[in-house]
Amino acid sequence: MIRMVDLKTQYEHIKADIDQAVLEVIASTDYINGPAVRQFQTELEAYLNVEHVIPCANGTDALQIAMMALGLKPGDEVIVPAFTYVATAEVIALLGLHPIMVDVDPNTFNIPVELVEKAITPRTKAVVPVHLFGQSTDMEPLLDLARRHNLFVIEDNAQAIGGDYIFADGRRQKTGTIGHVGSTSFFPSKNLGCYGDGGAITTPDGDLAQRLRMVANHGQSRQYYHDVIGVNSRLDSIQAAILRVKLKHLDAYVAARQAAAAYYDAAFAELPQLATPARQHNATHVFHQYTLIVREGDRDALRQHLADKGIPAMIYYPVPLYKQGAFSHYWAGGTLPVTEQLCQSVISLPIHTELTPAVQDQIIDGVRSFFA
Ligand SMILES: *Cc1c(COP(=O)(O)O)cnc(C)c1O
Repeated sequence: MIRMVDLKTQYEHIKADIDQAVLEVIASTDYINGPAVRQFQTELEAYLNVEHVIPCANGTDALQIAMMALGLKPGDEVIVPAFTYVATAEVIALLGLHPIMVDVDPNTFNIPVELVEKAITPRTKAVVPVHLFGQSTDMEPLLDLARRHNLFVIEDNAQAIGGDYIFADGRRQKTGTIGHVGSTSFFPSKNLGCYGDGGAITTPDGDLAQRLRMVANHGQSRQYYHDVIGVNSRLDSIQAAILRVKLKHLDAYVAARQAAAAYYDAAFAELPQLATPARQHNATHVFHQYTLIVREGDRDALRQHLADKGIPAMIYYPVPLYKQGAFSHYWAGGTLPVTEQLCQSVISLPIHTELTPAVQDQIIDGVRSFFA
């Protein structure tokens, strides 16, 4: 059976280490804030080369805690891509802030700095670049724009952990560590996934790190003293122990995804009906998703054709944010042409760390036969 993501085979390869790590936590009874959480935090700080990692319960919480700790106030505007997962905008609305949705680049699917600039008003306080499908937003011009307009840059790094952004001077930085604050998710199918829910916030700023920790922990500065309104958002010790094992494999997992993507690319190069994922010169792509654009032909018919052959494919994302019922009243009307086009033409094929050329050949044959 072909799966979008094969967590079972991945687990079988690391079973001995995972089982031992989980059983150790169970035996220790340190289920909440046990040593594994602190150890994972330190190891992730080293991996990302960032001063502070604040573990939390999931990637959506990570975004919410970031916005709370930055002191964003009801009515403040936060710029987000219209082509993204709902979590990005959801927490903005939940906090009484206004999500301002902008169109994306037709090749990279990320927000171009020119469109962000056009959306800035006197109420704009932050921008959330989403490194969609595993490739960094072009951060250098965005940081520059943010500096000039006094905006916070909150990176939604849920899909791109392990990726690099490359500055004009050649300096490389891990995605999620470039803005004022970054958020990520350890949802099982993410590039660094645990076996339940998990997330983290990253920041180079010590004062902000302290506020983030406080907000994530009931607004508490020391036990039973609550200085600000907070939330309860923790990474479980068991999940941290699993993530410690998997973090050691993250670079190999990224390489496996990149190899699978290159294999698809080579096969689809000869099909003019499809556009393969664009690669930026100034970022690595960690392929959380392998997303094609169907240039000619019916995307939904292709998906059905594949399904009939037992090949799964997903549409990330079928509906622009502003057309979602929950967000329509944040929208003045009109459409964003690239987002509209992408929602109708993208299709994501299976990609994961255990994909073999033999399975990819089956998937590729399925796609080819649709256009034959
Ligand atoms: C998965 C994801 C999130 C949310 O992560 P959860 O851990 O599921 O809350 C946020 N933003 C993007 C872009 C995501 O892909």
